[in-house]
Amino acid sequence: MGANSLLKAKPVVQTHDFGQQQRDSLHLSFNSGFAGSLLTSAKPMVNEKKRIVIAGGGFGGLFTALNLAGAGDVTLISDEDHFLFAPMLYEYLSGEVEEWHIAPQYKELLDQDINLVQDGVAGIDLEGRSVTFESSRGPLSYDVLVLAVGGVTNFAGVVGAAQFSLPFRKIAHADALRQRMVEALDAVPPDLPPQDVRSALTFAVVGAGASGAELSTKMADLLRDAFERRALRGEPRILLLEMGDKVVPGMGEEIRAFVESALQKSRVELHTLTRVLRVTENSVTVEHNGAQTEIKTAGVVWTGGVLMNPLIQDLKADKTERGLLRVRPTLQLVGHDNVFALGDIAYFPDATPTLAGTAQLALQQARLAARNLKSLLAGDPLHTKHFEELGEAVSLGTERAAVLAGGKAFGGPLARQARFAMYTSRLPTWHHRLRVGASWFFEGTTPRR
Ligand SMILES: Cc1cc2nc3c(=O)[nH]c(=O)nc-3n(C[C@H](O)[C@H](O)[C@H](O)COP(=O)(O)OP(=O)(O)OC[C@H]3O[C@@H](n4cnc5c(N)ncnc54)[C@H](O)[C@@H]3O)c2cc1C
Repeated sequence: MGANSLLKAKPVVQTHDFGQQQRDSLHLSFNSGFAGSLLTSAKPMVNEKKRIVIAGGGFGGLFTALNLAGAGDVTLISDEDHFLFAPMLYEYLSGEVEEWHIAPQYKELLDQDINLVQDGVAGIDLEGRSVTFESSRGPLSYDVLVLAVGGVTNFAGVVGAAQFSLPFRKIAHADALRQRMVEALDAVPPDLPPQDVRSALTFAVVGAGASGAELSTKMADLLRDAFERRALRGEPRILLLEMGDKVVPGMGEEIRAFVESALQKSRVELHTLTRVLRVTENSVTVEHNGAQTEIKTAGVVWTGGVLMNPLIQDLKADKTERGLLRVRPTLQLVGHDNVFALGDIAYFPDATPTLAGTAQLALQQARLAARNLKSLLAGDPLHTKHFEELGEAVSLGTERAAVLAGGKAFGGPLARQARFAMYTSRLPTWHHRLRVGASWFFEGTTPRR
């Protein structure tokens, strides 16, 4: 039986705890466009391994793959050789965690029955059911495709931003930033007057969302620690530049209070209602209240937003105004039953709005995607689910954090421990979780000098 026949109409089953009446009506609600074939599930595919291709090995892609073991001939494609637990990239920058903790190699995570292709996907042929690669490798055909390639840094067209500022989304970006900080420190002679030191060690972080707040406090603590050890005079200057009127706009008031207090303690200069106009190799120009100012910088780090992955930009499919792929409640692409999309590239309405563009959402969706993919192959009804916040955690410098769990926010060193514990449980595979948990427990999480 070809893949076409197996990918026909599927009843959608909600996994909420509905009353019987609602349940009945939901059992009778079907994916759009297939009302004519109510209750006619496709026959299960027996003795034939379907080719399942997963593009992207982040929260959405890797966790889907891990939940799919044995379901078919599964291939995971990623342009990196490792997964990245991005929420702890700040701790990697500061050396509180090691690379292997948060960026384990795929080959250490995946069973032998999952094929790994390390290459960039260059194109997707939805009609012909194949993907092409950035390398000279030939196209790969699929029966079912899972799209989870995530986003890329959004420099918002600011002059010089893409060329001169440092993005912060990958291990290589954190390495480059640490290197830049070390070089800037090395260039400062110990007897330099404090005002010159401050100017030579001015860093700007663009965007005061959670990423900007976490990164700026981490950088401030790291640089201040380096100042003490190198006996430099004065102090570094960290600017946090935000176009809007507040820090962490997507988060609640309670957690914002902790973030604001941490910024003050770390002596990060927060500039709201400040637009970045230009970035050069050694400066940033900003506009506030109509006045423009050019500030000399040792580095500008860009955490100002996420842009749609170019692969998805080029894909001819139903999208929102922002370019996100429209998916059905089952995570199937509108118009393509054999394609699932999740994570940062997908618009999934049935989720708490603050979850959009988070690892938490991608992680939860991965379970649903894998489950539905298996149902699709087996000819069983597909499911949907409402996704809720699992709790928020923000790292604030090298000694503190703020956590929102069960509707209550708390901060300080205890929150930092809670954040480590919470994130241990979200790492991929039991084996990796145990190794990392043991390392953090026995070897500690003190920042690397
Ligand atoms: C620094 C940072 C901190 C964050 N902190 C938090 C946090 O505290 N809490 C939270 O909930 N969320 C956080 N996020 C957001 C979270 O990481 C994302 O929402 C989540 O990773 C989205 O999952 P995804 O699977 O859609 O994409 P990703 O996890 O980004 O995975 C995409 C994968 O696809 C690969 N890829 C991309 N293009 C191609 C291609 N053409 N071919 C092959 N492979 C490709 C990438 O290399 C990557 O492995 C953070 C993000 C960053 C960058």
